[in-house]
Amino acid sequence: MAGALRNADLAVAVIDALTSQICVLDSEGFIVAVNAAWRDFGRSNGRDTARSDIGVNYLELCSVAAHAGEGHAEDVHDGIAAVLAGEIDLYTCEYECTGDGDPRWSFLRVSPLRRPWGRKGGRGIYGAVVSHADVTERKHLEIELDRLAYTDQLTGLPNRRALIDRATETLAATRAGSRASFLLIDADHFKEVNDTHGHAGGDRALVAIGAACRSVLRENDLIARLGGEEFAVILPGTDAWGAVMTAERLRAAMGQVAIEGAETRFSVSISVGVTEFLADDRSVDDVMARADRGLYRAKGDGRDCVRLAPVHEKETLDLPRIA
Ligand code: GH3
Ligand code: MG
Ligand code: MG
Repeated sequence: MAGALRNADLAVAVIDALTSQICVLDSEGFIVAVNAAWRDFGRSNGRDTARSDIGVNYLELCSVAAHAGEGHAEDVHDGIAAVLAGEIDLYTCEYECTGDGDPRWSFLRVSPLRRPWGRKGGRGIYGAVVSHADVTERKHLEIELDRLAYTDQLTGLPNRRALIDRATETLAATRAGSRASFLLIDADHFKEVNDTHGHAGGDRALVAIGAACRSVLRENDLIARLGGEEFAVILPGTDAWGAVMTAERLRAAMGQVAIEGAETRFSVSISVGVTEFLADDRSVDDVMARADRGLYRAKGDGRDCVRLAPVHEKETLDLPRIA
């Protein structure tokens, strides 16, 4: 008996020493033990700790949370039930905790408690161990890495990867019947800009192009920096002619922007190729290649202008200048 007590004390000391929040459930989902970290977490989240302590049915708690709109709670309920029923050996999930303060993320792991071989009940499951680990810091890093992976460092705009993702979605929407357009923007004579105003001046010009375009565009339009002095815009719900008007507004806005150079203030002009997403485009590459043909024409026509891309390579389109 003394040995058994010592074992129980040992078990309590061990689970209390763990930083993961642990609770032990019986076969019906009633909590039969919790560790110190479990109680501390409840307290730090401003929760009534008795709500998830010994004697409470954790499966019922999950059901209540699911009814209250906690998205993950139904999955957790089903995962625990599956472990208790012996259907799965391990259930894991990661979820956001909706407490009062900043959002926190938990990693939840549920493993069965099995009777040892040869005992009454065979390999029957008589409970489960639920452990939660706070993975908020890791999640913040993941979110930040994700943001960096989709952001251009110089301008803070979405990058090429973000643009391709959005363009792919837009093309799918086009095939489903909606309209959208694409602008390919290239700063004119940018080599000269760098040569005359310094590389730092050139960098400021790129930031200014992004900011000027952003200020003209609608919130759900996407502007991205593709790289170098090239930008692209996706205009959802806009046909080719609407896109030409928008491109002209961007071009005109650039003329108003004064950028700080090494010695003087300067402005840059842009050339823009315009095209509409077409339902029979095979891929985003088709859209971009077409916009590039418009851009090529804009450069050929003297730069600082907007050209609607011909749909077919040999087609010619003569557009009047709008502004
Ligand atoms: P065009 O009017 O035909 O487009 O001429 P361009 O000089 O703009 O075209 P080109 O592609 O020959 O040169 C692009 C220049 O853009 C060359 C490169 O040094 C500069 N550039 C690319 N990325 C950056 C950047 O991040 N910062 C700065 N300052 N310059 C850049
Ligand atoms: Mg270029
Ligand atoms: Mg250029």
